[in-house]
Amino acid sequence: MKSDVLIVGDGIAGLSSAIIAKLKGLETVVLQPSTKPRDAFHVVLHPGIEALLKTLGVAQEAACLASSRPDGYWRYSAEGRDFVLYGQDAEGPWLGYLVSLRELENLLRARAQFLGTIFLRPADAVHALSEHGAVKGLESARKRWFAGLTIDASGARGILARDLCLKYLYGSPPLVATYASQASSNPASHPIFRMDPDGWRFDMSTSPGHRCTIGMAITSQKICEKGKSGRDVSWRYLPECAGPGYALVGDAAFRLDPGSGAGVLRAIMMGIKAVELAAQPDEWHLYRQWVSDWARTDGAALAEIYSEKPFNAAWPKSHRWSDARLSF
Ligand SMILES: Cc1cc2nc3c(=O)[nH]c(=O)nc-3n(C[C@H](O)[C@H](O)[C@H](O)COP(=O)(O)OP(=O)(O)OC[C@H]3O[C@@H](n4cnc5c(N)ncnc54)[C@H](O)[C@@H]3O)c2cc1C
Repeated sequence: MKSDVLIVGDGIAGLSSAIIAKLKGLETVVLQPSTKPRDAFHVVLHPGIEALLKTLGVAQEAACLASSRPDGYWRYSAEGRDFVLYGQDAEGPWLGYLVSLRELENLLRARAQFLGTIFLRPADAVHALSEHGAVKGLESARKRWFAGLTIDASGARGILARDLCLKYLYGSPPLVATYASQASSNPASHPIFRMDPDGWRFDMSTSPGHRCTIGMAITSQKICEKGKSGRDVSWRYLPECAGPGYALVGDAAFRLDPGSGAGVLRAIMMGIKAVELAAQPDEWHLYRQWVSDWARTDGAALAEIYSEKPFNAAWPKSHRWSDARLSF
């Protein structure tokens, strides 16, 4: 099977790539995982994402999906609390989105399907198919899929990084995110961000009578807390995130912890940008540079926040990206 664009992974990054590729008139195939144990948690999206949702053609639907559109959040620390407003202009305050990640993915999948994306669910694990240093597609034990551009949107897995032996750089101590959903008779009008010396918690009312809590621990100690699932959200990025015939997008290319508040935004932007390589296959170094600059700028800015009270005791004194990963 041969297509213009072949995408592995159907999270936010892969689906955004698929939508843009179809809008450009490219034959697009998405390989989905054989089993799909998806996490059910809500994400908070910065108002700036609206322009990207418009580009994908789902802005109105996403606004309907949102369980609320907060104009900011409360920030609590040992010093007290303050309200962080996202921003405002002549038309009023900017509104973020509180939305189920799974429902947002379903919306993007429906849009990609409507535009004619082909979705396949290979029965076996897939691997890179490369020839003379260029990626030509992907293969499983039984099948091969060829493409002009292969996009790895497999999230934490990073299939192409693994198969092409590409090295991630790591930029944080080990960080673990947890999430939990529980009944709550006390709905909060705005999300609440609580900061502690070893991490933070973000509480939000997601539907009448329900509350979702996202937590992040700077050490791994909280990973096994009863009733909570934990995910490695340590910072990493891949300097060689594009090359002849391939690009990595979303968490597979560049990940900061959810405290950056921009994982979904990054996934969509990389998904959109990587598709340009289908028309300009020799320009992969520009994509690499763009992701590297982004990782270094946002990593430095977030590290500065974490090096302040109350996180400073657990956070390294100086920030740098390194190929030595601190183990859990
Ligand atoms: C607890 C938590 C809270 C978060 N909160 C926020 C937030 O509030 N705001 C925000 O912007 N971001 C948040 N994020 C980050 C955000 O969810 C991610 O950055 C974003 O969803 C990444 O999307 P992705 O498509 O790159 O990767 P993923 O969502 O990981 O998608 C990868 C997809 O690839 C599939 N896949 C893997 N291997 C294969 C294979 N072999 N074959 C086929 N498919 C495969 C997976 O099943 C998955 O569907 C949070 C993350 C966590 C963990």
